[in-house]
Amino acid sequence: MSETDAVRADGGRVRDEGYDDFLDALESGEGYYLECPEGHGWLPPRRVCPECGGTDLEETALPETGAIETHTTVHVAAPSFADDAPYVTAVADFDGVRLTGVVRGIDPENVEVGTEVSAEVDETETAGERVLVLHAE
Ligand SMILES: [Zn+2]
Repeated sequence: MSETDAVRADGGRVRDEGYDDFLDALESGEGYYLECPEGHGWLPPRRVCPECGGTDLEETALPETGAIETHTTVHVAAPSFADDAPYVTAVADFDGVRLTGVVRGIDPENVEVGTEVSAEVDETETAGERVLVLHAE
């Protein structure tokens, strides 16, 4: 599963064990990522490090804040996100770990590279589905 698929948490999506467990943890304020022995960090959680093939991945606390690296404003959304548009999806860097989510707490036109965000779990306006939110401080 790519990170892009993960953020598209629409009604047709089946529960993904790794990703939903991660959202559960994040929701209770215990966000984490997995780090391999080589220090590569990964989200959503996976079993094998795609960088070095390491399988001994350890849960590591997710840093409180990250910084937006790339962002895209979505004006025309899929039906399950229709009432959320326009919205911004972004990739934020949390100390080397990248997280993809929907940006909230800021006007879409004010989102820029470097904007500081924290990771939260919220619901989409449209379908009430859980979604990873990058909340601007
Ligand atoms: Zn690795």
